[in-house]
Amino acid sequence: MIRKPIILLTGGAGYIGSHTYVALTEAQFQPLILDDFSNSNPVVLDRLERITGQAVPCHRGSVLNTELVAELLKVHAIEAVVHFAGFKAVGESVAQPLKYFDNNLGGMISLLKAMENAACHTLVFSSSATVYGDPATVPITEDFPRSHTNPYGHTKLVCEDMIAAVCQANAAWRAGVLRYFNPVGAHPSGLIGEDPNGPPNNLMPYVSQVAVGKRPFLHVFGNDYPTPDGTGVRDYIHVQDLAQAHVAALQALLLGDNGFTVNIGTGQGYSVLDVVSAFEQASGKPVPYQLAPRRPGDVARCYADPALARHLLSWSANHTLLSMCEDTWRWQSNNPEGYRLLE
Ligand code: NAD
Ligand code: UDP
Repeated sequence: MIRKPIILLTGGAGYIGSHTYVALTEAQFQPLILDDFSNSNPVVLDRLERITGQAVPCHRGSVLNTELVAELLKVHAIEAVVHFAGFKAVGESVAQPLKYFDNNLGGMISLLKAMENAACHTLVFSSSATVYGDPATVPITEDFPRSHTNPYGHTKLVCEDMIAAVCQANAAWRAGVLRYFNPVGAHPSGLIGEDPNGPPNNLMPYVSQVAVGKRPFLHVFGNDYPTPDGTGVRDYIHVQDLAQAHVAALQALLLGDNGFTVNIGTGQGYSVLDVVSAFEQASGKPVPYQLAPRRPGDVARCYADPALARHLLSWSANHTLLSMCEDTWRWQSNNPEGYRLLE
């Protein structure tokens, strides 16, 4: 029997990690989750078992624990790591920068040390379009200048630099840096999805909570941007497409690719009002909204040129905005309290 490559998913119980877990299982990898559940719920493991029909290997622990990570890498003969673990709330990072530097930068350092120690040199990293700051033009290509507008974005930029430095120092390293645009949607089963704690910061989960009746209306942050309808334009990407990008990245690296940094988006920008109307269509529910001032730090338009990922990884996104909304709605309406079990 051919041994399946074992892949460590740090933060694998989170939103993107859990969807990637399923995609990797289907692609004949054997993923192993390391998560401290600081922003996820162990119920996700039962859901993953239901989707995949197999027990879900998971270690509860922090990526900050270098010895634990090195031990896992060695004991399981892990071939590659996908590093999702980290904090991601922009506003919180402004209020508590040290929390972000500690976990996101400390986590990256700890992981790289553990991987070096265990001679595991293949890494895929969850970066973000936030590294482009306020782009001068759109669509964005990977050679655009990088900058940061908040501590969260700063951590992504520094993590990219750390990865580049270890690759420079030791030719054994192979790293794929994936710059995600705006991940949305859920697995079509409706069993796993995005489960924010408290009021969502991001548009799609907020819209879905309005549609399900948890919140009375959406605040539309600004309608005076230089965009067709005045509201902010983003490149929403279905989390199922995003999960497939990780499969493609790992396949390329394990086949000997030396490494890459690629945008993971659709190349198509949609406004806030486009999302509202697609969600109303998908859910059959009204999404009332009120116009509100611009949110500080927001950019008018942000969407990818995804040509490099298509060229290097033979990957491109397939899902439409309507299917992103339909899958979000199935998850939201089946699980109005997310993974929190109702009494
Ligand atoms: P998430 O919060 O749902 O998942 C992150 C997981 O990491 C959680 O399960 C959390 O419990 C875990 N975690 C956090 N710190 C840890 C630690 N020290 N040790 C072990 N586990 C830890 O977030 P997500 O949306 O799935 O994002 C995954 C990655 O993708 C993050 O690095 C995030 O910054 C990046 N990213 C996300 C988006 C987005 O919009 N969701 C966009 C661009 C990049
Ligand atoms: N947005 C909004 N109301 C909300 C949340 C977001 O109008 O409650 C807008 C936001 O101003 C931006 C778009 O929706 O134009 C996407 O915001 P999100 O936070 O999801 O992604 P990001 O801005 O980080 O790309």
